[in-house]
Amino acid sequence: MTVKKLYILSAGSCYLDQSAVNRNLPPGKLVNMPVWSFLLETEDGPILIDTGMPDSFVNNPDYYKGTKREGRLVPNMLESDTIVNVLKRVGYHTDDMQTVISSHLHLDHAGGNGHFRNTPIIIQQAEFDTAMTDDNYSPLECRLPDLQYQIIEGDYDLLPGIKILSTPGHSPGHQSVLVTTEKSGPVLLTLDGAYTKQNFENDLPFLSFNSEMAAKSLRHLKKLIQEIHPTVVFFGHDNRQASKGRTFPEFL
Ligand SMILES: [Zn+2]
Repeated sequence: MTVKKLYILSAGSCYLDQSAVNRNLPPGKLVNMPVWSFLLETEDGPILIDTGMPDSFVNNPDYYKGTKREGRLVPNMLESDTIVNVLKRVGYHTDDMQTVISSHLHLDHAGGNGHFRNTPIIIQQAEFDTAMTDDNYSPLECRLPDLQYQIIEGDYDLLPGIKILSTPGHSPGHQSVLVTTEKSGPVLLTLDGAYTKQNFENDLPFLSFNSEMAAKSLRHLKKLIQEIHPTVVFFGHDNRQASKGRTFPEFL
């Protein structure tokens, strides 16, 4: 059994300092990074991977003004980019989701988690532990200790066709997802295991909590690619792949 459809859903973007995307570049210039959520239609119901940016980013490019992130991270989010409205476009309500997989608890991936109070949210133990105590994680939008977390450690087969892969480094408990769909076969979602194709293929270092762990996770993903030959490898925030036309209403 495989996943019936995988929709790649556009959920706004944010401007990030170029030195975060490529550690070899000097700081001082912002680049636009697309933000994604992924909807999987399965025999057991719809499953969402990541919930995008928080509603507090909507029409609020000054969100980080007066903080240490001012000038380094600028949200570019409209009302239509909230996870509620992103799902509505595909014909779903937040309560329809059977499960949410959180790749990690950064604001551009877990910002909408508060809309899923009754849904199991799958997260790595290390990510949960860090987010609950480290103020680099937004206490308001991403800490949320009262959600229905389903905490895992390491790789995890969620359903036939959905394999969660532990890929720490960008964050302490980051996870990527290997999805096998009816139409496309194996599809690897690196999430923030690699922001861009360049990060991935040329080993260009990018923003990470632990660069050695990040490099090890990349090696793990590359080995997997040699074994299973995915038809698509989709990166966390790659502008160029964003324009290739694989996103909703298309599906994989
Ligand atoms: Zn990200």
